[in-house]
Amino acid sequence: MTCIGPCIESTHFRDKKVGYARKLIPGTKKVTHHHRWVYEQHHGPIPEGMVVRHKCDNPPCINIEHLEIGTHQDNMNDMVIRGRARWGENKKRGEENGKAKLTEKEVREIRNLKGKISQSKIAKQFSIHLNTVKQIHQNKTWTHIT
Ligand SMILES: [Zn+2]
Repeated sequence: MTCIGPCIESTHFRDKKVGYARKLIPGTKKVTHHHRWVYEQHHGPIPEGMVVRHKCDNPPCINIEHLEIGTHQDNMNDMVIRGRARWGENKKRGEENGKAKLTEKEVREIRNLKGKISQSKIAKQFSIHLNTVKQIHQNKTWTHIT
């Protein structure tokens, strides 16, 4: 993707995990990401479920020319393509959060086994709690894995 002009990096406090700069929404105590806020100033509210993406792949950049709207999935695809998954918002969830006992591959297997063998058998097979299996089957966890 091509960028118009150089990046403008936010001087605001940066979220260490994702690299995005933070922005306090004026008149509120809510914090958003600076680039999201800039985008909304130009284009209006971001539809639910959509994310503001960086064409320049520079998380703290707030140059409006470098921002575009997309889905979270687009964002993830980009990160994989660019080998920048460590910046991903998915870092907070799933495999990398240190709590998860399952790998993404295993989660997919568990999904595939839905209805084929009982949930308690799956739980035993993967040495996980029955509730974990149920949650995966009900798409309550690991929702970022498709
Ligand atoms: Zn930029």
